[in-house]
Amino acid sequence: MTRVALIAHDEKKPDLIDFARAHEDQLRAYDLIATGTTGKRLIDEVGLEIERKESGPLGGDMMIGSEVAEGKLDGIVFLRDPLRAQPHEPDISALLRICDVHDTALATNLASAEFLIEGLAE
Ligand code: PGA
Repeated sequence: MTRVALIAHDEKKPDLIDFARAHEDQLRAYDLIATGTTGKRLIDEVGLEIERKESGPLGGDMMIGSEVAEGKLDGIVFLRDPLRAQPHEPDISALLRICDVHDTALATNLASAEFLIEGLAE
């Protein structure tokens, strides 16, 4: 089954919620995982079924990175906030890096997220 991770920094969470609503039917057909707070909001506000990892600052990005290393994930939508430094920046960089190592599809903004979700549908 297609397995997708969803992550958004605080300022970008509303965008990810809107994105998930727009693609709700497609996402429902997938195994979804997310970092803690992102996942909680997607469950509460969109009603998706999500496996929640730890919150990003507590290691959630690394938990998702480990799934990439294990070859379990088909794609990641990670809406980053480019305007604010995050306390767990090293973990975020590690997640981006491991996606490149394993050639795992990664979208870090809404425009590329649209391409990713379209690509997964094919
Ligand atoms: P959060 O983590 O969904 O728990 O806020 C995301 C992140 O900061 O990487």
